[in-house]
Amino acid sequence: MDYISTRGSAAPLDFRSVTLAGLASDGGLYVPREWPRFSGDDIAAMAGLPYAELAAKVMQPFVGDCIAPERLLELTRQAYGRFAHKAVTPLVQFDERNWLLELFHGPTLAFKDVALQLLGLLFEEFLKGSDQHLTIVGATSGDTGSAAIDAVAGREKIDIFMLHPKGRVSEVQRRQMTSVIAPNVHNIALEDASFDDAQAMVKRMFADTDMTGRFRITAVNSINWARLMAQVVYYFAAAIQLGAPHRKTAFSVPTGNFGDVFAGHVAARMGLPIEKLIVATNVNDILHRALSSGDYSAHGVTPTDAPSMDIQVSSNFERLLFDAGGRDGAALAQQMRGFEGAKAMQLTNAQREGSASLFASARVDARQMSAAMRWAHDNCGAVIDPHTAIGLSAALEADLPRGVPVVTLATAAAAKFGPAVEAAIGVSPRLPPRLADLMDREEACTDLPGTYDAVAAFVAQHATPSPALAD
Ligand SMILES: *Cc1c(COP(=O)(O)O)cnc(C)c1O
Repeated sequence: MDYISTRGSAAPLDFRSVTLAGLASDGGLYVPREWPRFSGDDIAAMAGLPYAELAAKVMQPFVGDCIAPERLLELTRQAYGRFAHKAVTPLVQFDERNWLLELFHGPTLAFKDVALQLLGLLFEEFLKGSDQHLTIVGATSGDTGSAAIDAVAGREKIDIFMLHPKGRVSEVQRRQMTSVIAPNVHNIALEDASFDDAQAMVKRMFADTDMTGRFRITAVNSINWARLMAQVVYYFAAAIQLGAPHRKTAFSVPTGNFGDVFAGHVAARMGLPIEKLIVATNVNDILHRALSSGDYSAHGVTPTDAPSMDIQVSSNFERLLFDAGGRDGAALAQQMRGFEGAKAMQLTNAQREGSASLFASARVDARQMSAAMRWAHDNCGAVIDPHTAIGLSAALEADLPRGVPVVTLATAAAAKFGPAVEAAIGVSPRLPPRLADLMDREEACTDLPGTYDAVAAFVAQHATPSPALAD
């Protein structure tokens, strides 16, 4: 399997190179050249497999001959062995139609663990026996940072530098990052900076040839294809439990960067019978406007109680525009350049028609979010987090054919967002026992002025130089 850029001009890469790369050199994102397909019989044969075995089966066509099937299974067993629930992503029934897919049983309590636990192992696998060293640089508004740090802490040949805007992540989120004390983990709190400022610094570093000439700088956000690939698996796991390949399932997905829901699109392309993918946004609703009316224009970001969805420009949406709109890289490159200048564009007819049959969307405000948290608590005895509540609210309102089950993806554990949950339902969710002492743990973090030069100097001082990758 090789991977091509959504903007058409970067050289195709194999799975190993695409995992170690960030953005394509033409500014696009990598997607598989074609979608592997499973038949109904193939899907039926997956019923009842343990999660790690299902994961290896679903991912093998994307990995190709970069990793042997037996070795891939060892890696998935190792990655998912660290989850606190034996089913890894258990499915819970709410009522006749509604189900919850719990994706938060990993080490840092958000769905980001499902992909990042595997990605950490893939990095190590691909560096084995080489003299290369990876420098991961990322910006986080909370959940990606802790999941990425947990996944690579203590690994040889990898350093991680994680930037967060000082004072603007929750205390639980900060402590989940800063209490990981390891020589290869560097937490940076940026003074007088927003998440967008931090993100802009990371992008600048990827384009800074002075840095990229000395260090092998890698991305761990969802522009990394391997992350999306790992997320395809739980769509299969849930739909098969609900009757695939013989019955269709709908999914409601709390969406920010469009990574999680794009993985659902991939599952559908691979032959999984999906009735609808409901893109649930908070009041930062650019994706809802784009999918319902074709208007893709960025407004300012409004902070909400679901901060991981407070996003203006969703990087992975470009992957859908490419795939649904006819896979014309040159045309998309031009369209995206226009968007980068004007911060606004119209979807083409091909892009709208290509996404209309599978995608629906909904915008959920703060009142509807609280109502969904109360509904889950009063009717089902479940305490759900604000992001999950946005998905559930959209699921409860969705117009679907009779008999189609709808699965809401539960993207974080409620305890990660305790104060917002308590404000909505009057119940304060508790951290699981393995994190019970989080508030007493030692922290390690460097405060830096919110300037690019300060960050680049710090990374250059602490990172390990690496020869270029042989592709
Ligand atoms: C990252 C995140 C999201 C958004 O997921 P995308 O893949 O960026 O769309 C939703 N909920 C939680 C809790 C998250 O951490």
